[in-house]
Amino acid sequence: MLLLFGLKTVLRALPGRHSLCRYCGQYVEQHLEERASKFTVFFIPIFTMSRAYRITCSNCGQRSSLSKQGMKALAR
Ligand SMILES: [Zn+2]
Repeated sequence: MLLLFGLKTVLRALPGRHSLCRYCGQYVEQHLEERASKFTVFFIPIFTMSRAYRITCSNCGQRSSLSKQGMKALAR
């Protein structure tokens, strides 16, 4: 029997937030992005193995990763 399994990375844009950028020091819109690694069987996502968040400044374009706690703090 042939079993086809693998990993798939799914990118999802989240609603942006205004916050202070740590690089340029401006209070501007920050783009949020969720990157999820999913375990697939026959190319169908079964479960999420890991989840990471990334924030991009709309002023200077610098990117930094966010922890789940940092993401929750930003959502408030
Ligand atoms: Zn910036």
